Amino acid sequence: MPQDSSMLDGTIASIDGAVRSLGLEDDMRSVLVEPWREIQVGLPVRMDDGNVRVFRGYRSQHNAARGPYKGGIRYHPNADLDHTRALGMLMTWKTALADVPFGGAKGGVSVDPRELSTSELNRLTRRYTMSMHHVLGVNRDIPAPDLGTSAQTMAWIMDAYGSIHGHTPGIVTGKPIELGGSLGRAEAPGRGAAVVGCRAVVDSGSTPDQSTVAVQGFGAVGAAAAQTMFDNGAKVIAVSDVDGAIINTNGLDIPALQEIAKNGGKVSDFDDADALDNDALLALDCDVLIPAAIEDVITAQNATDVRAKIIVEGANRPVTSAADDILVEGGVTIVPDILANAGGVVASYFEWAQNIQVFNWELERVNLELDKKMNEAYDVTKTQADRNGGSLRKAAFDVAVSRVSETIKIRSYVG
Ligand code: GLU
Repeated sequence: MPQDSSMLDGTIASIDGAVRSLGLEDDMRSVLVEPWREIQVGLPVRMDDGNVRVFRGYRSQHNAARGPYKGGIRYHPNADLDHTRALGMLMTWKTALADVPFGGAKGGVSVDPRELSTSELNRLTRRYTMSMHHVLGVNRDIPAPDLGTSAQTMAWIMDAYGSIHGHTPGIVTGKPIELGGSLGRAEAPGRGAAVVGCRAVVDSGSTPDQSTVAVQGFGAVGAAAAQTMFDNGAKVIAVSDVDGAIINTNGLDIPALQEIAKNGGKVSDFDDADALDNDALLALDCDVLIPAAIEDVITAQNATDVRAKIIVEGANRPVTSAADDILVEGGVTIVPDILANAGGVVASYFEWAQNIQVFNWELERVNLELDKKMNEAYDVTKTQADRNGGSLRKAAFDVAVSRVSETIKIRSYVG
């Protein structure tokens, strides 16, 4: 059985695939693979019980050839430098593929945010910002939410950054609307995943309203993806969160589930469905599977159990490289993360542009421009895949690496 590599090795292997097919030189490869700047900090935080805990914080600024570094900050026990670096790299390819004027970066703190009180999280976030503010900036590096962080986290960052640099809404995206956040930003990663998911369904010869869907994760990405698939007439038959999964083969009432989730409930609180094992959701007989929780959920171990025809990567790297090989070989279409979940950073771009112009857009405009960007990114990826006969992931990396390497050439870093 093939072995699963680490997320960092898997990401580098994807870059190397594109370097080979584009015929790029070794010098260019080094510039593409090496993160341009990385910071690791100790974050002493006074806990509510009076003790001090020192957390580790990271920011990996991978590449800024196409514009300021851009990417989320993740609060998760697994966050470390390699993990943050891999996620930062993915952001570079995601922004390039979506053709938004940013580079790629990622931040992380090694912490389980569910174990901290709101005031502890507030102090931790302000400490992180104070330790990093000199490498951040509206034209330098713009963080956003990711796993374990939220609009509230962005509000704390903006406030702490503003206490040094003055009122600067464009320093973060994914902020509360009241502080300059954009309408539609919260739903954008899920909406975007559904838009490109529907394109893949149509390309497979079917239509969304004839399709069954299973969604792993009912957080920011999964819930909006499920809702948009539902709005497009698809039958969402199963969803899950960390506490469990549910199934109803007649289709789940997604708006009702959203209500439960918004009020702090779990998907298992929903009555009109049966309980399902979380692992069984990944092996369901359905047309579209949307893993929208965390990385490495479909591995060499369980890839052959997958029965979905199309996988839409709502999360970053939910399918390992080894699993990707098995699935693609077996005829499964995988809409890769750098395409599928680009809606978040696309709407972040709109938010940043609104902040710079001090002019807010209506929701209709955000959604219209988002759908346009997602469709363009899908088109360029599909065209490349059809031309080269490879997977959508391979094609997406070819396009993204080619765009970034072009700007590196024009800047004359290489050649
Ligand atoms: N954290 C999100 C991602 O992985 C959004 C990043 C952003 O908007 O900057 O794409």
